Amino acid sequence: SSDDRVFNFAAGPATLPESVLKKAQSELINWRGSGMSVMEMSHRGKDFTSIIQKAESDLRSLLDIPSDYAVLFLQGGATTQFAAIPLNLCKPDDTVDYVVTGSWGDKAFKEAQKYCKPKVIWSGKAEKYTKVPAFEDLEQSPNAKYLHICANETIHGVEFKNYPNPKTLLVADMSSNFCSKPVDISKFGIIYAGAQKNVGPSGVTIVIIRKDLIGGAQDSTPVMLDYKIHHENNSLYNTPPCYGIYMCGLVFEDLLEQGGLKEVEKKNKNKAEILYEAIDQSNGFYRCPVEHSVRSLMNVPFTLEKAELEGEFVKEAAKEKMVQLKGHRSVGGMRASIYNAMPLAGVEKLVAFMKDFQARHA
Ligand code: PLP
Repeated sequence: SSDDRVFNFAAGPATLPESVLKKAQSELINWRGSGMSVMEMSHRGKDFTSIIQKAESDLRSLLDIPSDYAVLFLQGGATTQFAAIPLNLCKPDDTVDYVVTGSWGDKAFKEAQKYCKPKVIWSGKAEKYTKVPAFEDLEQSPNAKYLHICANETIHGVEFKNYPNPKTLLVADMSSNFCSKPVDISKFGIIYAGAQKNVGPSGVTIVIIRKDLIGGAQDSTPVMLDYKIHHENNSLYNTPPCYGIYMCGLVFEDLLEQGGLKEVEKKNKNKAEILYEAIDQSNGFYRCPVEHSVRSLMNVPFTLEKAELEGEFVKEAAKEKMVQLKGHRSVGGMRASIYNAMPLAGVEKLVAFMKDFQARHA
């Protein structure tokens, strides 16, 4: 029952709105009189066609996606896009620019090395990925085909608060802040995101691409990575992740019912503020290393002054039904991921626990 549910602070797959899970449960074995589950439907039948079309049109409303952009529902995770982007936008000798603000930007850069000539024009590594660059400081390569950024670094907790107007195309990995706030899509050539943080189950990858960028893939590009194939077939070239797309559709409906992304952003800001404030006002008992102005609204990494207590913190929190608070293995410490579906009550409970834990261990 829902009383047994925990507050899940995982970075992804992450918590989904309980109302969405209940809706899915109510339609699980017989979707709206069809006599079958969405899992069992033909992806070319009229029922699933209505599901994918509604999901796309609701996402278009949420993000106000201009008509010269295509929305693709793909597979393979954001990781597959690390390769698909250079394969579709570049020839092997083309230069592209990468801003590396954390582990994910670095992974994207490394994968691109196989398909074109990427250059890191800014890296936050020396400062342990606690910053993002000022755009006026970025020196783009003269003929770069695009500039790649990771809009929100899930592991390090740094987030771009506004976006550059690059001389070339802007391409952004928005996996961990997709649909967490409004975005001016027209600034971007491509936005991509794995669904499993804010909008659905893993297995669905969403790509929003300006249509004139479709059609120039390198000859060796696998069909499954060619945007033209997926666009011409309305994301139905092969069997798509039908159930995952259906779940994303339910989340989009829920976000629209909440009043859209401006409202969602307000809630996210409020939750993040409460948590960062608790960290900053702990007299150093808790610390967040990230520069204030670029702290993520989604992923909040923090450490304990007494690092030897971190295991105890995670264990005690789990006993109180707050789980997955351990930081990523590469950075240690703790991390609370507070995506759209994390209720305010979850953050309030965590903050109360943190204060109590400090009182007992200071
Ligand atoms: N990019 C970011 C910012 C992520 O947080 C993740 C996953 O956590 C990925 C890319 C990789 O996504 P996937 O596991 O869908 O390939």
